[in-house]
Amino acid sequence: MQKLTLDTPIEYLKGIGPRKADLLKKELQLFTCRDLLFYFPFRYVDRTRFYKINQIESEDLEVQLVGKLQSLQEVQGKGRKRLVGQFADDTGTVELVWFQGARWIKNALTIGGVYVLFGKPSKYGRQWNFAHPELELLTEFKQHGSPGFMPVYRSSEKLNAQGLNSRGISKVMQQLLPAVIDQVGETLADDLRNAVKAIPIRDALTGIHFPKDTKAMQLASYRLKFEECFFLQLLLHVQKRVHHSKVAGFPFEKVDAIFLDFYNNHLPFQLTNAQKRVLKEVRRDLGSGRHMNRLIQGDVGSGKTIVALLSMLIAIDNGFQACLMAPTEILAQQHFNGLAELLEGSAVTIALLTGSTKAAERRRLAAARMDGSLHITVGTHALLEDPVQFKNLGLAIIDEQHRFGVRQRAQLWKKNTLPPHIMVMTATPIPRTLAMTVYGDLDISVIDELPPGRKPIKTLHFYESGRLRMLDLVRKEIDAGRQAYIVYPLINESETLDYKDLMEGYDAITRSFPLPKYQVSIVHGQLKPEVKEFEMQRFVSGQTQIMVATTVIEVGVNVPNASVMVIESAERFGLSQLHQLRGRVGRGADASYCILMTGVKVSKEGKRRMETMVATQDGFKIAEVDMELRGPGDIMGTKQSGVLDLKIVDVVKDSGILAAAREWAFRVLEEDPKLDKPENAGTKAEFLKLYRDKSQWGRIS
Ligand code: ADP
Ligand code: MG
Repeated sequence: MQKLTLDTPIEYLKGIGPRKADLLKKELQLFTCRDLLFYFPFRYVDRTRFYKINQIESEDLEVQLVGKLQSLQEVQGKGRKRLVGQFADDTGTVELVWFQGARWIKNALTIGGVYVLFGKPSKYGRQWNFAHPELELLTEFKQHGSPGFMPVYRSSEKLNAQGLNSRGISKVMQQLLPAVIDQVGETLADDLRNAVKAIPIRDALTGIHFPKDTKAMQLASYRLKFEECFFLQLLLHVQKRVHHSKVAGFPFEKVDAIFLDFYNNHLPFQLTNAQKRVLKEVRRDLGSGRHMNRLIQGDVGSGKTIVALLSMLIAIDNGFQACLMAPTEILAQQHFNGLAELLEGSAVTIALLTGSTKAAERRRLAAARMDGSLHITVGTHALLEDPVQFKNLGLAIIDEQHRFGVRQRAQLWKKNTLPPHIMVMTATPIPRTLAMTVYGDLDISVIDELPPGRKPIKTLHFYESGRLRMLDLVRKEIDAGRQAYIVYPLINESETLDYKDLMEGYDAITRSFPLPKYQVSIVHGQLKPEVKEFEMQRFVSGQTQIMVATTVIEVGVNVPNASVMVIESAERFGLSQLHQLRGRVGRGADASYCILMTGVKVSKEGKRRMETMVATQDGFKIAEVDMELRGPGDIMGTKQSGVLDLKIVDVVKDSGILAAAREWAFRVLEEDPKLDKPENAGTKAEFLKLYRDKSQWGRIS
């Protein structure tokens, strides 16, 4: 047989052959020996550890027990016989069951013998049960000793059927690893490796597949995690550098009359320090002559809008136009109203463009955009459409990034000869290291301070039994001149059951808050836009005191007089949604409330969400818990970013490693931008292997 190399296709491995190789390609995307060598176990079974029966906790983990086989008995079940055994240690008894091979097993086992049992427990009533466990006499087990740590590889049903279950893969690895390990080149420079205390790559590969103890496994896993983070961060740095060095932007050189007049004479409040700092970062970008691509992260209510407006004024001062895009019609309308009010009396012109803008108005706006007399266009997705052109668009701002994708951002680039500067604003805080990875192509600014004078929002969690208290509280607030939201979950806009809940809730509310003293608005996704708008406006203008709604009001709506947010079936909302909803109140100077209503039966996770909401109002803390509960998969933007393709790193649990790797990647590139130093040769080779296509490396000069 020919000598195996890392590039040898896996069908040449002993025991694999074309059929299995085909499956490995299809099911696990493993093509070469290298792919297989870098296919890591996702967990280990610690066969050095023995459990007592009363220590068994979960159905998810195999356990190893020592005990006595007390009985074996064939039982006639429905149709089929099965063999049932009792197995005991000094803390309890478990049941063993075999559906096949009863005769053979009965002969092989000795009743009364002391065995080492290994298998996966499942629970029937209060009894733990093992189906087809492995059993070996303790005396025999002692002769060969514990198998140590058993790696567990992800497999698939089809692979299982071909003998490539976890154990089968491990066997292949036993053959592969010694044959090719010497060919694996080190990818990290010695100095870096020593500085971050990472073991050599070959040791790490051996340690990850065949750890002899916990320590070895941890060292291996750390090294490989660091490596994975490091190369991802290298890629992000390189991409960003390409962007900075190659994508030219319109230089907004001056800050002139329009900005200064507004700043000095019309700003309704003093900017917070965080707002000032972020504005400074933006100004630096805009003046640099390079293209700005910046994300502004700021919790709900942190005051992103004013930063957006001031940035747009800089564009106008430099002879450019600006646009602001929001994810929904209601939000675009609100932004338009708010900005128009702020701009009253100034020479800046502003207009609204949405899907429901009438044709004549559309034509008028198009003409004004093309002759440059219209400075700011606020709108929805409608702005992205091709026919929407500008005389000289210089800055495009996107509010609530999570509803827009990277592709949509790119559409904005085509609206001028050079791409207009892009500012993305999001109120969905995600942990910083993750943000840097998910939004790798963006520079990030954080508004990490709320405007002064905000009273904290008191958050309460009530079960159904607290409904009267909730209604009381709402009534008190309304009678004091305030307004309230009552929100129902509508996860799937077509779910009739949800609508039933919503409409019943609405009826109940109108009974508790009767006309003519109380007026109730209702807004949900199935209403016509005009009706929705009408109902919204009644609430915004204070004609109605209560807004019954689905999550259409989730983002951005600003009614400072609203002081109560009631969330029905709160257990059905995710944390970030709850946080967004709560952010609708607490915008005025008075104290406000958020009331989470749930049924009595709330899952453990649901409870944790309620507790977190009650405990904190810090969006970043909430985001951390959210990620811990849901994993990063549901976080917007993660899909495109590649963090979900990571092999061994968990961006949540390993955020410390991610941050360190980011730092190091930056330092390495700083000192050796093209990775040409001899000590970085291994790093460069690996980088090119991984990302030749993605990095645009060739474009760096
Ligand atoms: P968000 O970041 O959620 O978009 P907004 O821009 O809507 O927040 O601001 C929330 C509210 O806070 C608005 O009513 C706005 O006028 C007010 N606000 C913003 N900045 C300040 C500030 N520096 N001082 C006082 N109020 C502010
Ligand atoms: Mg906003």
